[in-house]
Amino acid sequence: MIRRTKIIDALQRTDYGTDITVMGWVRSKRASKGIFFIALNDGSTIKNVQIVGDDAKFDPAMLKLITTGACLSVEGKLVESPAAGQASEIQAVGIEVLGTCDADYPMQKKGQSFEYMRQHAHMRLRTNTFGAVMRIRHNMAMAIHTYFHQHGYFYFNTPLITASDCEGAGQMFQVTTKNLYDLKKNEQGSIIYDDDFFGKQTSLTVSGQLEGELGATALGAIYTFGPTFRAENSNTPRHLAEFWMIEPEIAFMDLDDLMDLEEDFIKYCVRWALDNCGDDLEFLNKMVDKGLLERLQGVLGETFVRLPYTEGIEILQEALRSGKKKFEFPCEWGDDLASEHERYLVEEHFRKPVIMTHYPKKIKSFYMKIDEELPVYEGKEMEQTVQGTDVLFPQIGEIIGGSVREEHYDKLMNEIKERHIPMKDMWWYLDTRRFGTCPHAGFGLGFERLILFVTGMQNIRDVIPFPRTPKNAEF
Ligand code: ATP
Ligand code: MN
Repeated sequence: MIRRTKIIDALQRTDYGTDITVMGWVRSKRASKGIFFIALNDGSTIKNVQIVGDDAKFDPAMLKLITTGACLSVEGKLVESPAAGQASEIQAVGIEVLGTCDADYPMQKKGQSFEYMRQHAHMRLRTNTFGAVMRIRHNMAMAIHTYFHQHGYFYFNTPLITASDCEGAGQMFQVTTKNLYDLKKNEQGSIIYDDDFFGKQTSLTVSGQLEGELGATALGAIYTFGPTFRAENSNTPRHLAEFWMIEPEIAFMDLDDLMDLEEDFIKYCVRWALDNCGDDLEFLNKMVDKGLLERLQGVLGETFVRLPYTEGIEILQEALRSGKKKFEFPCEWGDDLASEHERYLVEEHFRKPVIMTHYPKKIKSFYMKIDEELPVYEGKEMEQTVQGTDVLFPQIGEIIGGSVREEHYDKLMNEIKERHIPMKDMWWYLDTRRFGTCPHAGFGLGFERLILFVTGMQNIRDVIPFPRTPKNAEF
């Protein structure tokens, strides 16, 4: 059997004269004066290995099959390369075409638009850019598991199918085995679910947090890392209908601990990328975003700003008053901030990541811990705030949404009632507050938002292999 050498390893070897076999896909082929040059890539690295051969020594019919996209097995001698920018190349002795490539190969031409690539998402993985993004994506997954493992968190798997709709009412995908052509309804016209697969209405989860809290209040510290689904019809470069979320949840953690964790964790991931994805980052820095490496390095050097919402509003209002800035959406105290506001604070005012805290209760989720003190804005006491923490990043906006959780049963029930949250299927969640409740906190990081930041890509559809967005589930 032939022993295949991965191209990433072949390029590092200096035992010139050795016979090796590499396999991969042709990126390009050119010929000059009876010699051919093939750039071969096997996905192990962004770098191609150069294959050099003498036309005369090969079957012309076989050589004709070596076109961009074709798959080859090449046996040859590892030699020192005379060409700049590569230490070694392979002098071909034998070439087998494992797979020819039809002329309509969609990745034939270089420099296609990202929109074109999305329409050929099944083949775009073969390009330099998507290869780089996918290798970085893998590395970020490793960084995340390593970080939590080393800090004593347990990887905890929460269900994808859920019967609770308290968080995502209206933006959940339903899961059913019912015959949609023949739906039984009751006298009020509502669909009967008793005879559905789970005997009740179920959906795909929008977050693993509520089950994560059960894990944290037993194991001390857990994290989830899995797919989440949101049927929100927001066609933006930062939203997917199916995305991956990382949700650590920790017992006995307060607001300051939480912000420390968020900052330390993101910096760890960025450092991991810089330490382990050098070639891919350099490529992206050259081809996609010239400021990328500087921005990544910058984040490591910065201390994130910790900014109470009320102070944030003061800054935004001051920017408006002084005429420094115009916003499309209002930002009065009490308003939910739009991405233009978040980006102004991060990119123009502070020029570093911001962790915003102490949001008005009414724009945040029911489970967030209510602050003891009322905020003062323009000399007046305002409404209650909660201990939420949104981590805001340059280019991205919100990358993390977290909070300290309300651990008091009565206060939590109050919120649930005030907000008319359907809690009939949530008795198990409330039990955490009845049986040995404890202070705890956690956050959700959108995996693809992290990849956006680390790769410098502009559109979230381009950092996941097969994006799911409204009207798009082709591949
Ligand atoms: P946004 O305001 O950006 O829509 P959100 O406040 O609805 O986000 P959370 O419910 O706080 O989001 O979810 C936690 C994290 O999950 C967010 O900080 C973000 O990184 C990520 N996220 C949320 N929605 C999406 C989505 N549709 N696609 C990709 N990532 C998402
Ligand atoms: Mn959020």
